[in-house]
Amino acid sequence: MPVSGLPPYDDGNIFARILRGEIPARKVYDDAHALAFHDIAPQAPVHVLVIPKGAYVSVADFSAQASPEEVAGFWRAVAQVARQLGLENQGFRVLTNMGADAGQEVPHFHVHIFGGKPLGPMLA
Ligand code: AMP
Repeated sequence: MPVSGLPPYDDGNIFARILRGEIPARKVYDDAHALAFHDIAPQAPVHVLVIPKGAYVSVADFSAQASPEEVAGFWRAVAQVARQLGLENQGFRVLTNMGADAGQEVPHFHVHIFGGKPLGPMLA
């Protein structure tokens, strides 16, 4: 069960389908713990999503329920993707939405990596 008050994990969600290879994605990184692919509706010159391979609804579930290896592997992948995309020296933003108030659309934990231009201050 999710720890976040969100509905239970639904393996019909679009990112689960991408993980199973049922629908295409423009992949940029794939390892044992994480998959990264370009967002279908980019909001910055670089906009990539990184998702864990395991079935977690949100950052709360992932943080509470994933093994230390999964957590470390996931965050190392996030850093590796940013390096691979050439963002490390320019700066970039990592963001996750959790739940309805944050506008989370896809109920499989993911982080957005934004970059490729000066991003300005965060807006609440
Ligand atoms: P969130 O609001 O944090 O749940 O963000 C979900 C993100 O997934 C949005 O930025 C969408 O543009 C993106 N998205 C939805 N479907 C796809 C897809 N098939 N391939 C890539 N990105 C997608």
